[in-house]
Amino acid sequence: MAPVNNDDFRRHAHDIVDWIADYFEELPKQSVLPDVAPGDIRKSLPVTAPEQGEPFASIMSDFERIIMPGITGWQHPGWFAYFPANSSPPSVLAEMITAALGQQGMMWITSPAATELEMVTLDWLVDLLGLPPEWKMAGPGGGSIQVSASDASHLALVIARQRQSAPTDQLVAYASAQAHSSLEKGARVAGYRHFRSVAVGSDWAMSPSALADAVGEDCGRGLVPAFVCSTVGTTGTTAIDPIPAISEVARAEGIWHHVDAAFAGNAMICPEFRRYQPGLDEVDSYVFNPHKWLLTNFDCSVFYVADRKPLLEALQITPPYLRNAQSSSGEVVDYRDWQVPLGRRFRALKLWWVIRSYGAEGLREMIRSHIALAQDLVARIQASPQLEVVAPTPFSLVSFRHVDGDEATDAIAARINHSGHSYVTPSVIDGHRFIRVSIGGANTTAADVDRLWEVVSASN
Ligand code: PLP
Repeated sequence: MAPVNNDDFRRHAHDIVDWIADYFEELPKQSVLPDVAPGDIRKSLPVTAPEQGEPFASIMSDFERIIMPGITGWQHPGWFAYFPANSSPPSVLAEMITAALGQQGMMWITSPAATELEMVTLDWLVDLLGLPPEWKMAGPGGGSIQVSASDASHLALVIARQRQSAPTDQLVAYASAQAHSSLEKGARVAGYRHFRSVAVGSDWAMSPSALADAVGEDCGRGLVPAFVCSTVGTTGTTAIDPIPAISEVARAEGIWHHVDAAFAGNAMICPEFRRYQPGLDEVDSYVFNPHKWLLTNFDCSVFYVADRKPLLEALQITPPYLRNAQSSSGEVVDYRDWQVPLGRRFRALKLWWVIRSYGAEGLREMIRSHIALAQDLVARIQASPQLEVVAPTPFSLVSFRHVDGDEATDAIAARINHSGHSYVTPSVIDGHRFIRVSIGGANTTAADVDRLWEVVSASN
């Protein structure tokens, strides 16, 4: 078969755009979860790749028949599981162009526009989220787009490790017992021998005195505290670690202080939520994920450093084949030096496109609407004698359980997840089961939360 020519491409692309628009329209009527068993998709696919190219129609037909039945409704308005990974039509449009341009923006010279658009868009976000102005590219710091918050935290751990002259078997990393598992994984990958899960208080936030005690004990043993992570919006319950008190401990021992605001950082586009992350001017690095809650489809994780010097010292290696006049001039940013891999996608385009399409006001409106829906759900739970919230709800994650205990709580979760219209993640905190309702779908409305609530209240 001949290679696909531009006329074919034009026709098929129109078909695909229609298909996507239909998908968006039909999705709310479909079940959130696919109805497949493990192995169903694999056994429907041939075990060997085709020798000859196949026509669009047959690929599309297999895609609809085999692949689509196994697609999970992350963009469904009844998606209340994990954290959202919301998307939007402008983001999809930009991704189409990104794929077409096929940029590999490892250095300025390999894509001046990808590099400079990323610099400008991340500078915009500093202002939009009320972050320290020193994090802009004109300051000592700067931002870069990483694949995921896990990658960004891993990177922060690597920078912290490189700043220390001590061997890695003496280095210690700290995060709260409620921190995301990516912190422990990152520490392991970065070669830290010691990782401490620091105790949390009754609000599930890190206890700064427990951190100070752990740091003191480690120093007493001859170990070297190198890294601490504060989380703004933990995965379990969106608990908020006290950044200023943690900075105090970090500063006293020269510890790198990283902030993981993967989900909740997006809420800072609304000035009224910034009270939850005071003291950022004292931290060393920060990550948040527009791919979670800012209508920018996965992947897009934004990583800022307050000072880019230690980042570059940790990662910059320049073999002859990557040398060029612009890089040598020192006047350009080569984002390959800001990440572990060499190659990088042009992710800034979709972020820029989304911000321009919705404007800061449109994005604030979405965040506020989700948080209002969550507050309304909390009020219903609090008015119900059979239910109790297990944590404060500063953002749009509602954590609750049945007062009769684990079995009754799991029964509610099972009913929700069998409803077809809603999907939640049950979890465990302090040895007890609870249900997380994470509100953040691009098209989630009060009617969707009402539908979820009908199942919850019918279960009491
Ligand atoms: N940090 C927090 C607080 C999270 O909730 C998550 C995921 O939900 C992560 C990190 C990991 O995010 P990513 O999938 O971008 O690595």
